[in-house]
Amino acid sequence: MLSIMGQSAAIAHLQRVIASGRMASTWIFSGPPGVGKHRAAIALAKTCLCESPRRVRNQQTDGLRNPALEPDFDMILACDQCESCRAIAHGAHPDLHLIYRNLIRYHDRSGKSKGTTLSIDVIRGEITGDDSEEHRVEPKLYKRSQRGRGKWFIIDEADLMEPPAQNALLKALEEPPPQSFLVMITTSPSELLATIRSRSQWVSFRSLPPAVLIPQLVQRGLTQSQAKLLARLSDGSLGRAVRWLSVQEPGRSAEDDRAPTRPPMALGIGSKHQESTEKQPAIFECIERISLAMDNLATGRAGAMVLVDAVRAYAEQYARMALQEDPLCSKDRAARDGTAILLGFVAAWLDDRLRYAIGSPIEAPLPSTQQALPPGAMVRCLDLCQTAQHQVDMNAHVGLLLAATATELEAEIRRCRS
Ligand SMILES: [Zn+2]
Repeated sequence: MLSIMGQSAAIAHLQRVIASGRMASTWIFSGPPGVGKHRAAIALAKTCLCESPRRVRNQQTDGLRNPALEPDFDMILACDQCESCRAIAHGAHPDLHLIYRNLIRYHDRSGKSKGTTLSIDVIRGEITGDDSEEHRVEPKLYKRSQRGRGKWFIIDEADLMEPPAQNALLKALEEPPPQSFLVMITTSPSELLATIRSRSQWVSFRSLPPAVLIPQLVQRGLTQSQAKLLARLSDGSLGRAVRWLSVQEPGRSAEDDRAPTRPPMALGIGSKHQESTEKQPAIFECIERISLAMDNLATGRAGAMVLVDAVRAYAEQYARMALQEDPLCSKDRAARDGTAILLGFVAAWLDDRLRYAIGSPIEAPLPSTQQALPPGAMVRCLDLCQTAQHQVDMNAHVGLLLAATATELEAEIRRCRS
């Protein structure tokens, strides 16, 4: 639990509850993706399932002191050595159940489900059971804990539970069996039923501060400037940043990537012309291409379609990566996610222009000209980007939406320059 960096308030909250001995049965862990929610949920379950938890005084934690707890607070931590701790480390503890949307592959006999939501079949199969005549499933929730220290159910992306799945869960939560604990992990808690939210103990996780995120990215082989830029664009989410690093450049396949990893090089607009044996991760090529397309749009050297092409090429690569990870996933959904990410890079370019205009410092600017554009126009352009991101998520036609947004951005920028 101590190794979860940048979440001292959340960890302090968990430690206080553990110390009180009054463990809530239903939890919501909310916050941005990839900031430690899942690891914290496992650590909480591990601590409670541990056969000989140890007490460690906060001030004696080898430089991992939690500033949100008193120096003499006694933290309770898993021993990492007992049978239970070892079983969890091997992903094989009989009383720890991890529930995620792709489990639909085991519960949907037709094999057609794309797993874009968390289906009621998964919730029934993994937690609540099903007592219908034709399809009886035993409820794991009501089974006895095998090691006698309670049962834990951790639901990833809980906001993707379909309404029937949430209702099935709610029924079970109304009278939870003793010694059963449920943690719902979510980036959008508002998607959960109000009745589920009100029954749960909340723990909020925040974006990781640059001081925590940048060293983690440097450890993965990035330069300081690359790590700074990615920390900014990912909004303090290590999970997002690491995922982006797996994106290939357009035209490149997974086979090509089995070649040994090459050291990344410094960011720079001209780098795409450099020797290809020493390339930076493709995501930086992508960021440069989007920046360059926006620069050209602003100076009139290229039109809106260059931006559309850049966004589409990388969104397509993003979808390809998702399909390689899970051949049954929805390619359309993944391409939408990719498009929304790239629109975020466009928004960062606009944000830079705005900051140059008002003289506000930029911690990690995009690789681009340091051109200022009028704040009013930039705010309108940022609005356009945000609306487009929202509509991409709401199933709008991606091609048309991108073309319309890029054309409007071009018109807005041209207007303020003429
Ligand atoms: Zn242990």
